[in-house]
Amino acid sequence: MGNTQPSQPLKARPPHECPYFCCCAELLKSLELPERYFTARYNMCYCEECSRRRKDKRFYPRADKQYGLPEGWTRFSLQLESYKLKYFDLWHRAYHGTTFKNVSSILENGLVVPGTYVGGGDSVSTRKGHFNDHFGPADFDTEQIFLSPSIKYVEMEAYSTTQTVRVNRKRYQAKVAFQALIRPDSYSVGPQTTGRKSPIDPPLPNSEMEWSTSDSDDIILYGILIKIIDY
Ligand SMILES: [Zn+2]
Repeated sequence: MGNTQPSQPLKARPPHECPYFCCCAELLKSLELPERYFTARYNMCYCEECSRRRKDKRFYPRADKQYGLPEGWTRFSLQLESYKLKYFDLWHRAYHGTTFKNVSSILENGLVVPGTYVGGGDSVSTRKGHFNDHFGPADFDTEQIFLSPSIKYVEMEAYSTTQTVRVNRKRYQAKVAFQALIRPDSYSVGPQTTGRKSPIDPPLPNSEMEWSTSDSDDIILYGILIKIIDY
């Protein structure tokens, strides 16, 4: 590929060496994903300690939305064609929860509508416990890619399931998600579907927790997020 940011290996770290970040980096390394997807340039640790050191706020205005930082997570930034960088000022920020098993396919194919053939003999199915054609409100369209502006929503078990991952003979309970840009006006906004009554991530309203689109071209994935629960 021409016209891309310089590739840097996964072992590159933020300026301060946060042990939590390093542990998440080891976990990511254990997934053996091709290094060509990554650039260390925008790697970031949002652990309590690092966030306090930077004096992070919980929300920042981005485009015409509130962007909530992925508190407690670490971000490993993805290599993007340089023309896409301008969208950071224009598009909305969103999260997509997934499983470690799906990460490689998402890196290869992007987020795709359930049922899409992505090669290798697999078609992407909706996850267990999610709405599908046999389970869900009558007019609920499952042929959509779902994201959320809220990391607090995405880190719920239904979206980013806690999994056991072995790293250097140690076991961790961890979650994985993607951080994305999504084109304004390209997506539908819907309420949370977990049954939660109390506010999930104020000031983001529960009535706007799910953003969906059927067009993967409206989404730019720019980071893999990892959170270790039992660190
Ligand atoms: Zn940290």
